Amino acid sequence: MREMEERNQKGSGTYSAPGRADLHVHTNHSDGAHSPLDIVRRAHGAGLTVISITDHDNVAGLDEAIAWGNQTGVEVIPGVELSIALGDKDVHLLAYFIDRTDTKLLEYLSFFRHERLKRAERIVAKLNKINIPLTMDAVMDQAGIGAVGRPHIASALVEEGLIETYHEAFLKYIGTGAPAYEKKFQLTPEEAIALIQSAGGLSFLAHPGKFTTDAELFHLIRSGVDGIEVVHPSHNEAREQYYRGVVNQYFLLESGGSDFHGGKKNDEDVFGKYTVPMQVVDQMRSRLFA
Ligand code: AMP
Ligand code: ZN
Ligand code: FE
Ligand code: FE
Repeated sequence: MREMEERNQKGSGTYSAPGRADLHVHTNHSDGAHSPLDIVRRAHGAGLTVISITDHDNVAGLDEAIAWGNQTGVEVIPGVELSIALGDKDVHLLAYFIDRTDTKLLEYLSFFRHERLKRAERIVAKLNKINIPLTMDAVMDQAGIGAVGRPHIASALVEEGLIETYHEAFLKYIGTGAPAYEKKFQLTPEEAIALIQSAGGLSFLAHPGKFTTDAELFHLIRSGVDGIEVVHPSHNEAREQYYRGVVNQYFLLESGGSDFHGGKKNDEDVFGKYTVPMQVVDQMRSRLFA
C-alpha cells in the first residue's frame, strides 16, 4: 500500500486523493461512549479524511455523523456491524455503503436490538441467581440510547461496585462459557451477507485475528464476503500481512480501522491510529459503482 501511495503521489498509477480513513468506529448509538458529533470532531482533529460509523445493529447515529461530517469536511461512510453465528462462534461482519433508509435492513436491525434487550434481561436474571444484585435499570443507564450489549452490563457491574474492572466482568460472569453468559440472536453468514447486499452494501469479515480460525475465514470467503478487515488493533504486523495476502489472492477488498469505543473500555489511545489509505475506500467504490 505504501508503494501504491508513493506511486500515486508521483502521478502514475490510479489517482487516489491523499488522506487516511478509519473505517471502524462506534458511537453511543451502540456501545461507544461518544456521540456521533464527538466522533466527527475527533476525526477532524486527528486529520482523518474519511471515517465509517459502524455501530452494532444500529444505523441511528449515521444522519448526525454525516451532517457534522459535511460541515467539517470529514466524509462519513454509512456502516453497521452485525453478529453472525459460525458454529458456536459469534463472528462480526462490517457493512459499508449501506442504504440507511432501506426498510428491510431497518426492520432487521430493530429486531436484533429487541433480541439484545431480551438477552440483557436473561443475563441480569442469571447474575441475580448467583447473588450479583445487578438491576436492568443500572444496565439501561449505561446503554442510554445505544443498542444494549455485554459492554453495558460490564460497565454497570463496575459502576455499581460489584466488580473492580470492566474486563473482570467478562472473565468472571458474562464472557463466553462464564456463569451468566447468554447467546445473542444471530443470522447465518449467508443471511447477513444477503441482507447487506440487498441494502446496497459491501460486507467485510471484522477483526479475524481476534477469534476467527482459518477454516472459518475461508468459510466466510466462500459465503461471499466482499472483503476482510486487515488493519485492527488486535492484529500485529504479521497478521496484517497474512490477511492482506488472502485479500489479494482471492480478489477481495481490504478494510481497516480502530474499532474505537471509548469510555470504560479504555481504548482512548486507538482513535485515528489504525487507518487505511484512500485507495482502500476507492476500491470499495469501484466494486460498488463500476
Ligand atoms: P455483545 O455484542 O453484547 O455480545 O458484546 C460483544 C462485545 O463485548 C465485543 O464487541 C467486545 O467489545 C466485548 N467483549 C466480548 N468478550 C470480551 C472479553 N472477553 N473481554 C472484554 N470484552 C469482551
Ligand atoms: Zn462494540
Ligand atoms: Fe466487533
Ligand atoms: Fe466493533
